[in-house]
Amino acid sequence: GAIVLGAEGVSAGYGVRSRNVLHDVSVAIARGSTMGVVGESGSGKSTLARVLVGQIAPARGVVRLDGTDVHRLSRRERFAARRQIQLVPQDPYSSLDPRMSVGRALAEAIAPRGRLRTGAHRDRIAELLASVALDASAARRLPHEFSGGQRQRIVIARALAAEPRVIIADEVTSSLDTSVQAEILELLLDLQRRLGLTYVFITHDLAIAQYMCTDLSVLYLGTLVEQGTTDVLSRPGHPYTELLRDSRPDPRGRSLQLPAGGLASEDVADPANPPSGCVFHPRCRYGPRAHGDRDRCAAEPPILRDVAPHARRTACHFPIGPAAQKPDEGGRGE
Ligand code: SF4
Ligand code: MG
Repeated sequence: GAIVLGAEGVSAGYGVRSRNVLHDVSVAIARGSTMGVVGESGSGKSTLARVLVGQIAPARGVVRLDGTDVHRLSRRERFAARRQIQLVPQDPYSSLDPRMSVGRALAEAIAPRGRLRTGAHRDRIAELLASVALDASAARRLPHEFSGGQRQRIVIARALAAEPRVIIADEVTSSLDTSVQAEILELLLDLQRRLGLTYVFITHDLAIAQYMCTDLSVLYLGTLVEQGTTDVLSRPGHPYTELLRDSRPDPRGRSLQLPAGGLASEDVADPANPPSGCVFHPRCRYGPRAHGDRDRCAAEPPILRDVAPHARRTACHFPIGPAAQKPDEGGRGE
């Protein structure tokens, strides 16, 4: 389908003397699709989310909504464009004002520049609450009167108030119990079908990524290492994607989370100062050992490029291929 939202060669960071923690990242998100963004903490997932939603301007590169560079719009146009892309953050507790009734929070989201008259928006507020399976009476209550899952529904309703075309969901279920997680995921899928929404779905949980997403971008230390359909998880071309896949504690289990702090803490590097060459080379089990080509992996950054026969792009000098994955070996070169 048509590309709704895209980033082209985006580098970004924070602060006054900002050092980039996201390096030359490109994504193209087709209408009605769900682009998963996966990686460990520190991989730049949330930074990418904030760039896409317009909260931070990229140091380099372009963000396009319907082909238009959003940072070149006038203030008024940018305001309208930003309503098209709504962020649902991880923590429903901190993203709702504890003193503001749900109805008022929704009224503000419906008419952010209008005069605040909750009554005028009563029908729309009831409709929004119904769309996330909450009763209209919720409008009169305060956030603390709701459970975590209900609060996340309220945050989703607030995002829908802007009538967005794209929702960026950043670890939206990671603070919730497993059963509540499933309800929120089903709600998001249902809303996507009903409203024709496009999602960017940020998660460190590969099972959730596999369930929710059509496409996947794998980030490591702020660099895109692999991109393709969700199929990359079952047939990775990049050694890091394979490592993510193999880090599932139980292949048949429902919880396939990565350790939040990283897979091998002694190897965790600074995303603002990533290793030379291939950013993954200090942890890679293939390149250096298997090819006796340590110099190339440590010196030359691999370019994200198409890898046959699967529809994917991989940033690796020696991508893993089907022929290289022999079942009796741990992997190529072992
Ligand atoms: Fe491993 Fe080399 Fe590929 Fe990097 S470029 S992932 S070090 S084989
Ligand atoms: Mg994050």
